[in-house]
Amino acid sequence: MTVAFHESPVIYDAIIIGAGVMGATTALFLARAGLKVALVDRQDMFRAASGVNAGTLTLHMTRAQLIPHAIRGREMWLNSAEWLGEDVGALATPGLSMAFTEAEEDLLRQRASVRQNMGAPIEVISAEKAVSIEPGVNPRLRAAAYCALDGHIPTYRVGGAYARALKEAGITLIENAPVESISSVRGQGHEIRLTGHARAIHGRRVVLSTGAWLEKMLGWFGHDISIRCLINQLVVTETLPPVMGSVLSIANGLLSLKQFANGSVLIGGGWQGEGNIRDGGTRVIPENLQGNVRLAQHVVPRLNEAQILRVWLGLESETPDAMPLIGALTPDDDAFVVGCVHSGFTSGPYMGRLLAERILGADPDLSAFNPSRFSPSSATRAQL
Ligand SMILES: Cc1cc2nc3c(=O)[nH]c(=O)nc-3n(C[C@H](O)[C@H](O)[C@H](O)COP(=O)(O)OP(=O)(O)OC[C@H]3O[C@@H](n4cnc5c(N)ncnc54)[C@H](O)[C@@H]3O)c2cc1C
Repeated sequence: MTVAFHESPVIYDAIIIGAGVMGATTALFLARAGLKVALVDRQDMFRAASGVNAGTLTLHMTRAQLIPHAIRGREMWLNSAEWLGEDVGALATPGLSMAFTEAEEDLLRQRASVRQNMGAPIEVISAEKAVSIEPGVNPRLRAAAYCALDGHIPTYRVGGAYARALKEAGITLIENAPVESISSVRGQGHEIRLTGHARAIHGRRVVLSTGAWLEKMLGWFGHDISIRCLINQLVVTETLPPVMGSVLSIANGLLSLKQFANGSVLIGGGWQGEGNIRDGGTRVIPENLQGNVRLAQHVVPRLNEAQILRVWLGLESETPDAMPLIGALTPDDDAFVVGCVHSGFTSGPYMGRLLAERILGADPDLSAFNPSRFSPSSATRAQL
C-alpha cells in the first residue's frame, strides 16, 4: 500500500519582502526576538538602493522632522559591531553645507534653523572659517552651515555584513524570487507566491519593504499611494591626494561630495537619470552628468583635474508628502510596511528596528508615518 505523504508547509511568524536596509534590519530584530523569519528578494539582497547609494550619513540633507531618526541611524552605523556583528567602516566626519549666492545663503540659514530646532547640531559659519576647515573649497563661498554629526559609510561593505548577521540569526533568505501575489488565508496570515517557485510560502505576518516597487503591493492591501521613483546619479573619480575631509554639500541640495580612504571622490546630489521600475534599468542623461560634475568642480576646484572612473544610477522611492511609510496596513495587525525614507540609508537601521519593535508589541510613536494618511477610507481600518 502506498501512503501519500503531504509535507505540511512551514508557517513563518513573519515574511519580509524586500532585502534592502529597511527589510533586512526589520528581519534581523524580529529573528533576534525569537520569531521564525523569512526574507525574500526579487534579486540578490542589497542590490537596489541599499547597495548602490552614496553612503552619506547626513543631517543637512535629511528632512527636518526626521533628524532625531537620522541621528539614531547614524549612531547605529557607527556602532554596527554591536548590533550587526561587525564594523562596516562607517566614519564620523563633519558636514559642511555651502552657499555661493545670496539666495543660497538665505536658504542655508532657514534650513540650518529648522534643523537646529529638531536637535541637529548645525551652526552657520563664515566663509573664512569654512575655508580654514576645508582649504580645498572655492573661496568665493558666502557662508556655510557646519554639522558635527555627519559622516559616511562604504556602502559596498554593508550587504555582506547583513548576509552574515541574517544567517547567524537563523533567517531564511530567499533570493532571486520576485513576489507575484499575496493572499490572505483566514486566521493563518498570508500565502505568498514567488515567480519560479512551485510552492507558495506562508507567514502569519508580512512586511512590505520593496522601496521603489512598493506601490503595486500596497494596492494589494487596499492602500492607494502613489510612490514616486527618483533615478539618482552618482559619479566616482580616480583616486586623488586628500582634497576634503568633511561631507560637502550646497544649500539647495544639488550636490554632495566626499572622499573615501582610498582617495576617490564620490559626487552625488540627486541629479536624475532615466530608468524604470519594470526591470530596474537606468540610463545616464549626459547634460545631467555634465551639470553634476561642473557643480562639483565649482565647489572644489581641484576636481577639474580628476578623471571620472564610473557613473551609475539607482532607484529611490518617495511618497507624495516625502515622509516615510512605517506601520500597519491592516486592522488585524498582520501586514506592515517600511520604506520611502528620505536619506534612508542614514536612518534605515533605526527605521527597520522601530518597525520590528512595533510588530513585537511596543508602541513607538509612528503616527507621522502612518500609511493610512493617504487612504482616508482605510484610516479607520488600520489600528496604528
Ligand atoms: C543613487 C542613490 C544614492 C543615495 N544616497 C544616499 C545617501 O548618500 N545617504 C542616504 O542616507 N540615503 C541615500 N539614498 C537613499 C537610500 O539608499 C534608500 O533610502 C534606502 O537604501 C532604501 O532602502 P529600502 O530597503 O527601503 O529599499 P531598497 O534598498 O531599494 O530595497 C528594496 C528591495 O525590494 C526588492 N523587491 C522589489 N520588488 C520585489 C518583489 N516583487 N519581490 C521581492 N523583492 C522585491 C528589491 O529587489 C530591493 O532589494 C540613495 C539612494 C540612491 C538610489
